[in-house]
Amino acid sequence: MFKKILIANRGEIACRVAATARRLGVRTVAVYSDADVHAKHVAACDEAVHIGGSAPRDSYLQWERIIAAAKATGAQAIHPGYGFLSENEAFAEACAANGLVFIGPSAASIQAMGLKAESKRLMEQAGVPLVPGYHGADQDPHLLKHEADRIGYPVLIKASAGGGGKGMRAVEKAEDFAAALASCQREARNSFGSEAVLIEKYVQRPRHIEIQVFGDTHGNCVYLFERDCSVQRRHQKVLEEAPAPGMTPELRQAMGLAAVAAARAVNYVGAGTVEFIVEQPGGYDHPEQMRFYFMEMNTRLQVEHPVTEAITGLDLVEWQLRVASGEPLPLRQEELSIRGHAIEARICAENPDNEFLPATGRLDVYRKPACTGFTPGAVRFDDGVREGDAISPFYDSMVAKLIVHGDTREQALARLDAALADTHIVGLATNVQFLRHVARSASFAQARLDTALIQREAPSLFRQESVGRELAVAAAVAQTLVRERAGETADPFSRTDGWRPFGLTRRRFDFEFQGEALTVQLSYLADGALHLSVGDQAGPLAFRPLPADSGTRLDLQFQDRRLTVQTWQRDETVHVFSDLGATVITELDALAHAGETAAEGGRLTAPMPGKVVSFAVQAGDAVKKGQALAVMEAMKMEHTIAAPADGTVTELLYAPGDQVVEGAELLRLSVQ
Ligand code: ADP
Ligand code: ADP
Ligand code: MG
Repeated sequence: MFKKILIANRGEIACRVAATARRLGVRTVAVYSDADVHAKHVAACDEAVHIGGSAPRDSYLQWERIIAAAKATGAQAIHPGYGFLSENEAFAEACAANGLVFIGPSAASIQAMGLKAESKRLMEQAGVPLVPGYHGADQDPHLLKHEADRIGYPVLIKASAGGGGKGMRAVEKAEDFAAALASCQREARNSFGSEAVLIEKYVQRPRHIEIQVFGDTHGNCVYLFERDCSVQRRHQKVLEEAPAPGMTPELRQAMGLAAVAAARAVNYVGAGTVEFIVEQPGGYDHPEQMRFYFMEMNTRLQVEHPVTEAITGLDLVEWQLRVASGEPLPLRQEELSIRGHAIEARICAENPDNEFLPATGRLDVYRKPACTGFTPGAVRFDDGVREGDAISPFYDSMVAKLIVHGDTREQALARLDAALADTHIVGLATNVQFLRHVARSASFAQARLDTALIQREAPSLFRQESVGRELAVAAAVAQTLVRERAGETADPFSRTDGWRPFGLTRRRFDFEFQGEALTVQLSYLADGALHLSVGDQAGPLAFRPLPADSGTRLDLQFQDRRLTVQTWQRDETVHVFSDLGATVITELDALAHAGETAAEGGRLTAPMPGKVVSFAVQAGDAVKKGQALAVMEAMKMEHTIAAPADGTVTELLYAPGDQVVEGAELLRLSVQ
């Protein structure tokens, strides 16, 4: 086993690798960028080396500096994590050339699987089933169109060098092909440096089922069963589980053997994943009719590897380290088995109700459920951040991974729901509530899985408010009273003057909840009890503070409902968390808002820091409300800025390729 390794990554995966290394007595070296000086992964390792600026190309992709750091610190091997350099064959080669072990497959294996089109040709030869499609080298647009027509619509155009859900376009009909091809090529060129695409039949209602494989340097190769990653948005995984619901032993073995054949075809060493797209011709109720086709192989550890660890009881990073140091695989195929069911949820800084727009900011409050970190448990929470850390625009928007395990899928689901309810984040938008709604949706609960699940269940997933107006108001009022009594709020006089020695006294609160202004009356009754009225709802309000290390925790009762709530106040906004869900309610200060009018005119600003990709208009153009004006790219996604009203574009303030800060004015519009 190695004595010391360098971890060429950041965030949760760097912390994850460090945890196993520590357990095995292997010392670790972190690398970090300017933005990560105080990052958790730096603290998680024994040593750390600064490698440059915040942008990945200035640090985590600077492989010469990373190799120099490994040599300077005496590390024997480099673990690349996922993303960044993990699938970069030049880096794997450079490691070897410098006498360092790359903890992953050989450069040749990475290269063979690196291009989607090339790998398909290889898999065809190895007898692995492929989706009908075109993966030739000839990229003449007329030929591509002809091939799409032959395959039959809908088709999917994929960037051959693509990954992470980027560089894909679904085309419904022949007329749309040319435009989709151009847009896919543009994204492919910008993101992957190559325009080459392939075309596949767009499988209807497919599932994404992938097989974890492991090879060693002694010629052994096994499969560690499957993961179902069908719950996706924009081709990116949201929930992953193992085993795949409805999987039959026959299909599991067939897919496992196909995956091993794929790995063997490229002499695979280390952890890899073979992804399959699975057709369900018999519908959800006839999983035995599922047909699988090779999609791609990811030649690295996968984000969702913990669900496999949960059901096999193995530590895949330990296996990676053992294999990389020359040991044979710890177990043979017949010694592997599945225990229980595991589900992973990716917690991301993003706003699902605004097209999953990535969010940046500080984790003012960051509270996790009772959990283990980086080791299997009923509730496991893998993260690379701490309370107070910033989520910056430079890296992935994933904050943490929540992994639950149970004897059955039902038990795992119940644990997932409870753990999400106990995940409290204040300071930036996250998808935690959205994940709860997805996990609770009828389709997911009944395992009616396919990649369109989120679309199908959309009415019950987006813009959901599950706490309700009355309880939100009751929580906000109660926490205000508790904080006043504790002398915490700024102006106690205006607040506590409701107390009088005789009779009933009233006090008024103004709130905004879900875009609605609310006037709330609180009455102090003679016996000391409280009475609250919110619109047409009124009733007794009672509460009891519970111990909390920050914020306010209450046993709350309003009308006939009673529940435990946890609140945090930030400026005028009260963040309310409960088993029902989470919500925000804002206390309005009537005076502060009196002079405010809707000054939102023709300013069109960047919703987040990022890069201007293109403008769809020029100065002088007349535009209609909703028309696309500009495209921005941030955090691996493109965002379209649309006209808020009819008007005329007066000025473009940036050029394509420009880097802009959040709130930067991109163009001016004169509104009619
Ligand atoms: P999976 O690994 O399960 O296929 P993704 O493809 O969504 O899931 O995630 C891996 C992708 O995340 C990489 O291809 C890369 O684009 C991106 N990524 C790069 N570096 C990191 C990082 N340090 N943390 C999280 N994501 C990263
Ligand atoms: P990436 O490299 O971004 O992971 P993949 O080729 O693995 O790209 O595909 C990602 C996702 O796109 C799949 O999980 C699936 O949801 C969808 N997808 C890919 N190929 C097809 C197809 N032929 N038909 C339907 N959906 C597909
Ligand atoms: Mg993939």
